[in-house]
Amino acid sequence: MNKDKVRVLVILGELLVICIICVLFIIQGAPGSHRDEGTGSNVHAATIEGDGGDEPIPEENKALSPEEEAERLRLEKERLAEQERLAEEARLEAERKRIEEEKAAEAQRTAGSRDQAELCAAMYDYDGAIDTLKQIPDYEKMEEVTAAISTYESARTKLVKWEDNTKISHLFVHSLIVDTARAFRKGSSQPVGYNRYMTTVGEFKAMLESLYEKGYVLVSMHDIAERYVGEDGVEKLRRKDIYLPEGKMPLVISQDDVNYYAYMDNDGFADKLVIGEDGKPTCQYTDTDGTVSFGEYDVLPIVDNFVAEHPDFSYRGAKGILAVTGYEGALGYDTGWHMYDLDNPDEAAKLKAEQEAATAVAEAIKADGWEFASHSYTHTDMKKNSFEKVIYDTDKWEREVQPILGDTDLYIYPFGSDICDWRGYKGDKYEYLKKAGFWYFCNVDASQYWIQITDNYMRMGRINADGERMVKTPGKLDYFFDSAAILDKTRPALE
Ligand SMILES: [Zn+2]
Repeated sequence: MNKDKVRVLVILGELLVICIICVLFIIQGAPGSHRDEGTGSNVHAATIEGDGGDEPIPEENKALSPEEEAERLRLEKERLAEQERLAEEARLEAERKRIEEEKAAEAQRTAGSRDQAELCAAMYDYDGAIDTLKQIPDYEKMEEVTAAISTYESARTKLVKWEDNTKISHLFVHSLIVDTARAFRKGSSQPVGYNRYMTTVGEFKAMLESLYEKGYVLVSMHDIAERYVGEDGVEKLRRKDIYLPEGKMPLVISQDDVNYYAYMDNDGFADKLVIGEDGKPTCQYTDTDGTVSFGEYDVLPIVDNFVAEHPDFSYRGAKGILAVTGYEGALGYDTGWHMYDLDNPDEAAKLKAEQEAATAVAEAIKADGWEFASHSYTHTDMKKNSFEKVIYDTDKWEREVQPILGDTDLYIYPFGSDICDWRGYKGDKYEYLKKAGFWYFCNVDASQYWIQITDNYMRMGRINADGERMVKTPGKLDYFFDSAAILDKTRPALE
């Protein structure tokens, strides 16, 4: 061989060796690159876990090792358990809140019942107070409630039966004068009449203070005598026991002509009775400059506020009697049928609206503890009236006024003029009034008290607490108040 051939063979040999080394290097280098890929997939797996498994599981993760799969399941279980725990916690919280709210409502009801019971007890109705408390669920377990029941039971034993139901006084007034300057001025429609027969707001308030201080307690005529059905099936009347603490004395009050007649307009009296913003009855009053306001402008709201402040001035919620005529409407509303041309639909609608307004006020007044009496329709003298006139008057009242005020068995004679003398009722006028549903009758009598109770009726004398009585025969009122001390100083001298 020549030299060139040998060089070619050596180069070829060297190339072969390089090739072999290259092949070997490639074969050995593969595992290294595989490891790199593995690191990448581990990062990816961590991402999958972090995402909560929403992403599709990559092909290479499907093949988790049994340990890894067990761990994944454990974590998943833990997550579900946590979710369940949170839901249970929320449910318990809602339940706790519901129980708390129920307890608060229950506590409010209990407090309401306790207030109600307290009011009943203050008005000497201990049975009512105890019954109210016993309505509270599980009241036996409430120490405060059982203690209150014991207190009421013990107070009840201290009440005394009023000795004689024919020895109970009855005071009455008319609409109260709010503005004496207007009432007694020369241009007023009845300056002398107002001075004689009316009482001022200030005087009336002073009367209440004195009556309360002396121990008088307002009762209803229905507390003095009650209607009942006898064994013979016939309805009758009998005395009813009144229980008051020692030293307290029952008293009836009433107000005549609660009509707010047109002649009184602009003379310083209330305009009408209305329902106040609190749903309770009150008075509307118009000032000299035309300003309208509501409040203590007549007997009703004054007594209401006094009793609210002194519930022990009222026997079982009794207030007074409002006597109403019909010839000029009722309670300050134009409800007389003759005041409208009823053939005219507009006029008829006006009457209906007045009737509805008056009826709503009357309902509120009764709900407030007051009672209504018929004071006749025409305000005429029932003693002097013929029997025909009594029929006419009674029928008119039943037709026009009774639907507004509701049924009543109380009758207060206009001018205090009773149909019979003291010997007792008989005759057609009485029979007619009785048939019309009246059982309790009031006249005017200057005695401290005057009462007749028979099987068929009760008659009660009343004392007028007005200007004339306070000035001319103040001694008749000494049982109740000191007339000289309370008489309004702006009153003109009485002729
Ligand atoms: Zn009258």
